[in-house]
Amino acid sequence: MPTRVNALAEQLLETLEEQGYRSTSPRRAVAQAIANQDKHFTAEDLREQLPSLGRATIFRSLKLLVETGVVCRVLLEDGDLHYQLSHRGHHHHLLCVECGASQDLLGCDIEAVLKQTSASHGFELSGHWLEVYGRCKSCSSGELAAV
Ligand SMILES: [Zn+2]
Ligand SMILES: [Zn+2]
Ligand SMILES: [Zn+2]
Repeated sequence: MPTRVNALAEQLLETLEEQGYRSTSPRRAVAQAIANQDKHFTAEDLREQLPSLGRATIFRSLKLLVETGVVCRVLLEDGDLHYQLSHRGHHHHLLCVECGASQDLLGCDIEAVLKQTSASHGFELSGHWLEVYGRCKSCSSGELAAV
């Protein structure tokens, strides 16, 4: 387990370095804490694990990791903003409202539709954000089994 965590944290730091960001000790600590998470997490979760780091430092590191594309933001149905590891480029999430599981949804093809509708408002599209809420396979089949 520690080996996997370290390898993951190293990968995060390497990606930052490739893009010109030195691996400072707060960044190392944040990368390590992120590698420890087994699902999506909040900035607050990281803060609890890293009491010695300030809130601003954690937010700055998270922002940097999001910008470099190794961490993505996950907006839960109740409005809570979470983060999770990602190396997938542009994608969306299928979020289970029961167990909180998150699955990546690749192959986004709504950009063309959005471009068209935006253009009809004289609006120039620069990006989009989309999360899909529902119940995952195991939550919906669990209910069937219980009946
Ligand atoms: Zn993601
Ligand atoms: Zn579920
Ligand atoms: Zn998309």
